[in-house]
Amino acid sequence: MNTVTPSPRSVTVRAPAKVNCELRVGPMGSDGFHELSTVFMAVGLFDEVTVTRSDRWSVTTTGPYAAHVPDGDDNLAVRAARLLARHMRVPRAAVSIRIDKVIPVAGGMAGGSADAAAVLVACDHLWGLRMDREELLYLAAELGSDVPFCLAGGIAIGSGRGERLAPVLARGTYHWVFALSSEGLSTPSVFAEFDRQTAGSRIPQPEPSPAMMTALRSGDPEALGDALINDLQEPALSLRPGLRAVLDAGMEFGALGGIVSGSGPTVAFLTGSSEHALDLCVALTASGVVDQVTRAKGPVHGAQVLAGPSRD
Ligand code: ATP
Repeated sequence: MNTVTPSPRSVTVRAPAKVNCELRVGPMGSDGFHELSTVFMAVGLFDEVTVTRSDRWSVTTTGPYAAHVPDGDDNLAVRAARLLARHMRVPRAAVSIRIDKVIPVAGGMAGGSADAAAVLVACDHLWGLRMDREELLYLAAELGSDVPFCLAGGIAIGSGRGERLAPVLARGTYHWVFALSSEGLSTPSVFAEFDRQTAGSRIPQPEPSPAMMTALRSGDPEALGDALINDLQEPALSLRPGLRAVLDAGMEFGALGGIVSGSGPTVAFLTGSSEHALDLCVALTASGVVDQVTRAKGPVHGAQVLAGPSRD
């Protein structure tokens, strides 16, 4: 007997934020971009993105950061849907996209990239494309260097601009506390400050550190706390000097390690347990040096369909 699968009307996907446990910035290539070596970890702060069939393209954002998210074709989520539709020649592809935004905007946690990854997975389902992983990763890299990792999740080494992923042997669950800032930092301006600070000095080829690989292999949060490193931290601190007090406060209150996440301004602290993370949240909130505090575990999965597709 032939069964006809009705096509879904909408699909919801959730995609995680990332923290860079290690971010080494290498020399600038001829394309004007620095070569990076980074160790990504996906953490349990998720944007939820719903795509619904429509007769016109649109995007709306809800949540505390909605005002900072573009509502037209500049939105990375819209660009992702249009790219996939073009690539796969999907007829009548228009969708309305709803983003329930939890990941801070311009916070160094790949919020826009998470939305793009979510839309690729959601539209793949909505349009019944069943694309293979490699092709989705290829399209993700076209959209931005952090998008492939938001698709993949877990823990991975990123090279190139961060878009070329390699698996990492890792064990354990890590408990993070994130000190969020009410105002974002632009990634290009942090790289420009990096260029200013390193002008005239020889920048070595970036590569993953043995200390980081050993820490992740052992699953020991103390070793990971000691191994955290970010070459964009000094530039971010120079653009946002107040972050130094945040880092100091977290370490004073017993964090195992603290680091500016990516290009900032979010500061990520590693703790030893969920109780320890809760205590650190309370202490940082009481200290008054932090705008907002949240906690999350990692690693978590990449972009994943959440609700079963609703059908016509
Ligand atoms: P990364 O860590 O990958 O460098 P980020 O987390 O610092 O990125 P995003 O939250 O991705 O920064 O936002 C960077 C800029 O991208 C924002 O200032 C915003 O104007 C634009 N943008 C486009 N689409 C989105 C989206 N869906 N969500 C958030 N920002 C978006």
